[in-house]
Amino acid sequence: MLLAEPPKTGADVEFSIGDIPVRIHPLFWIFTLMPMLDNRAFDSLLAGCWLLVVLISVLVHELGHAVTARYFGARPWITLYAFGGLAAYRPQDLDPRFDPTARSLLISFAGPAAGFLLAALTSGVLLLAGFQVHLTGITVEIDERLNDIHPYLYFFLRQLLFVNIIWGLLNLLPIYPLDGGQMLQAILVRTMGSAGMVQTFLSGILLGGAVAFYGAFSMRNSFLAILFGYIAFQNYQLYEAFRHRRW
Ligand SMILES: [Zn+2]
Repeated sequence: MLLAEPPKTGADVEFSIGDIPVRIHPLFWIFTLMPMLDNRAFDSLLAGCWLLVVLISVLVHELGHAVTARYFGARPWITLYAFGGLAAYRPQDLDPRFDPTARSLLISFAGPAAGFLLAALTSGVLLLAGFQVHLTGITVEIDERLNDIHPYLYFFLRQLLFVNIIWGLLNLLPIYPLDGGQMLQAILVRTMGSAGMVQTFLSGILLGGAVAFYGAFSMRNSFLAILFGYIAFQNYQLYEAFRHRRW
């Protein structure tokens, strides 16, 4: 859900998955480990598990976008940064034979879908291994027996399921630049032309602000409040820039 790519640094980790280049900015590690550091009983193995959960989840999500964009003819690359990742490509490389709105909708939806698929596969493997998996609300809980046998594996799999389901759902909220917001933008621009951009940013301000408010006062979740407050502010800046055509 990044808007722009961070500059290259000497501490970047670079590799590729198939023909898709991946770059990990050093802030990715720092931001991912931050919630673990203020825990008094810091456990480095647990922190390692968490880092692996976030790394796998963000990569799978971005690969969902990248592989779909690749299918439509683009040559995408992936960047992992402070608050997640970005799968970028040059829009002019996309195959013009496909309907542009359908193409955008599929590329945006493929990120959360890849995470849901990973969660389904993880649940399937657990079931095959003889552990129960059940839906509780919108997430999945794993058999406590696994916690007795292997607490780190339990932590790892539980977080992997949680992150892939919850982040996928959050990303589908119709708030720009989340995936759901990009889908909303594709639909509004198709129906209203450039006025669709203004409507996208306006709804980003309203809905982003509403989620931030709900996070702060109803859920008392400061992470959610700060994240969506920032997203609402980004939409305000985009709205202003678009009105004055500063791009
Ligand atoms: Zn995404």
